[in-house]
Formats: sequence, C-alpha cells, structure tokens
Amino acid sequence: MSPKLPSPPSSIPIVKISRRGGERLKAGHVWVYRSDVASADGVLPGALVSVADERGKVLGTALYSSASQIAIRMLSREPVADLPGLLRQRIAEAIAYRERLLGKSGDTNAYRVIFSEADFLPGLIVDRYNDLLSLQILTQAMDTETARTALVAELSEKLRPTAILERVEPRIRELEQLPARDSGCLLGEKSSTIFTMNGVQFHYDGLEGQKTGAFLDQRENYAAAAQYARGEALDVCCYQGGFALHLAKVCAKVTGVDSSRPALEVAEQNAALNSREIEWIEANAFDLLRDYAASGQQFDTIVLDPPAFAKSKKNLDTALRGYKELNLRALKMLKPGGILVTCSCSYHVSGEDFLAVVAASARDVHRNLRLLENRVQAKDHPILMQVPETAYLKCLIVGV
Ligand code: SAH
Repeated sequence: MSPKLPSPPSSIPIVKISRRGGERLKAGHVWVYRSDVASADGVLPGALVSVADERGKVLGTALYSSASQIAIRMLSREPVADLPGLLRQRIAEAIAYRERLLGKSGDTNAYRVIFSEADFLPGLIVDRYNDLLSLQILTQAMDTETARTALVAELSEKLRPTAILERVEPRIRELEQLPARDSGCLLGEKSSTIFTMNGVQFHYDGLEGQKTGAFLDQRENYAAAAQYARGEALDVCCYQGGFALHLAKVCAKVTGVDSSRPALEVAEQNAALNSREIEWIEANAFDLLRDYAASGQQFDTIVLDPPAFAKSKKNLDTALRGYKELNLRALKMLKPGGILVTCSCSYHVSGEDFLAVVAASARDVHRNLRLLENRVQAKDHPILMQVPETAYLKCLIVGV
C-alpha cells in the first residue's frame, strides 16, 4: 500500500486569458479587460484566481470581478496561499511607506494611506484625516467578509483610529453588481474631526462633502504654490479652500471662487479656524473670469484647479478647450511677474497635452512663460510606472 499523501492545498480556480491580455501583464500592467478573458468557467464574483495565458502557463494570482470591464486585477506573480495575510502585510507596508515619507513632523496628519493598485491592494482606498480613517471599497473582492475583516483589523491595529468610516459610492457598487449599502462607521462612532496639512487646519466630515472630504493629492502642490505666491491672489475652483488657505499665509489678499455654496461654507469655516480673512465668491469660473478680464482686474497670483473636464477619452477635445479658455483668461489677468498655478486632474489629458495647452494659451495672449515647476500628485498617491492609470494629476507653476 502506498503511503497516504497529504491533501493538496485547496486549489484556486484558473482564469485563462488571451495572448493580448498576457502581453499586457508581461509588460508590467496589472489589469486584464473582460475582452481578454478566454475562459472563467464557474469562477465566483470576487474570487481569488490563478491567471494562465493561452498556452496554460500560470502568470500569477489575481482578484476576479464578474461585473467590471476590468475582469482581473493582479495581486502577485506568485501563488497566494493566505489572502487575508497578504492583505494585512500590504497594508502594513503601505503604512510604513507613509511614515517614512511624512516623518515625525506634526504639521501633516492627513494623507492617503492606501491607493489601490499603486499600493498593490487593487480596489481599496484609505485616507487618514487625523484620528479618522475613511475607507472606500471599489471591487467585489475587497467587499467580501474575509477581506473586510482583514482590512479593518490591520488598519485599527497599526493606526489606532478613533473610527473607520466607509464611504459608499452607489454607482461603483452598481457597476460591480454589489448589493446597495449605506455609508457609515465600520469601527467607532465618530465621523468628523479637524486635520492638519502643512500646518494649515481643515474641518473634515466623513459623511458629507465631495470625494473623501478633501483633496489630499494636492498637499505638496499647496506647499509649492505658497513658495511662489504673493500679492493679490485668486483661487479658482477653490472647493473648501485648499490653495486659498495656503496662499493666505504669504499673500496680501486672497479671493476664492467656486460654484458650490456648500463647499464655500466649509471654506469660510476653515478660514476662521486658521484666523484668516479670505473673500469667497460663489460663481461660475468661466463667467467670473470673463467679467474680471472685461473690467481689467489684475492679480499677482492665480490658481486654476477645475474638476476633471475629460471624464473619458471621448470628450478630450472639449476638455482641452475648457482648459485653454480658463488658462487664457487667467494669463491675461496676471500682472507682469505674476504667478500661475494651473492644474488638471483628468487622467485622459496627458502631461504633454497640458503643457501644450498652457503654452498655446500664452501664445494667444502674447505673454512669455517660464516653467518654474512641473508637478504631479503628492507622494502618498504613488505612481506605478507600468500602470499609467495611477498618474492623473498635473500641476504647473509658471511665471509670466
Ligand atoms: N482646489 C480645490 C479642489 C477643486 S475640485 C482644493 O484644492 O481643495 C473642483 C472644484 O471646482 C469643486 O469644488 C467644484 O465645486 C468646482 N467647480 C466645478 N465647476 C465649476 C465652475 N464652472 N465654476 C466654478 N467652480 C466649479
């Protein structure tokens, strides 16, 4: 009788992908689109899967979505025996990276702790606002009980937050075919706090506001803008005053403009929190800049940080026209020696496209620009070189 063999590790399902999908992974990308899935028979939504090319060669381990156009998000080139263990290890690594980045200086206690693919935790976003964590789950795999338990355990053990809030985007859950769910606390009970970025204080309410409450990706750009800014400053699309409050430290007068009244109400509270006087104007940026230009208004510093004009490749041309118009009007209104801080958070507008738009705007208004800084998103929003989708924010600082 042959000796009894130990039972093999419980096998994980195999998803076969096309040649094109395989090439993409071999080039270092981490996604496989549904159109490149050759077979995924019987694979459950959100499952941990083994990915094989068309000849059956295993390329690694991934998380599967039965609904998204992105069917496969790679986790590792190796087999993964213990998914909760791997999730916890990656969270610990992401936290350690931020600790190295931000050091012990107490002037920033708000940053992105986990940025999905860029932290090798596809489908998970976690932001820290002082004592609160805000978590967003974007995929079937991260929504499983196993994953949720591991995430909450590791985050609370390492960061000791007062509360962990889950922010739910109903549209994302719908696209992933996940059951509806309300935003709320996963741990603790608190949902608002005051946080600090570069020594500037902000109110945070985890269950209101746009995005995750603040634009953490601009943190380093706020500090850079404040190094060049002076005189009379205008912050266009100011939201809750991110740039305006930083500029107020160095400028004689600051005006913030936004079309959202609720955003400006928080901006006003933020100004009071920092004992700053800032003028807030509720207006459409395009109309206001046109009126200002017509009446000959001039500024020393202008910030442009509009919403993503290009939501998809299809409206790239319209988006570029929008950026051109705003930049052109701003450049017209800058005094000689003035500073323009101009941003684009549209992934579909490349860095080169954006430089070209600003240069063309300068040409149209017959002004010479000096590129002082060509910046991207803050380092707590890492960029994976082989995953272009992780790079989206552009911020140019130019002198007229
Ligand atoms: N600069 C901000 C983030 C800007 S987000 C910060 O650093 O915190 C984009 C902002 O543009 C939003 O607050 C939105 O309300 C505003 N917005 C969108 N369309 C606008 C328009 N046409 N005119 C003025 N503001 C607009």
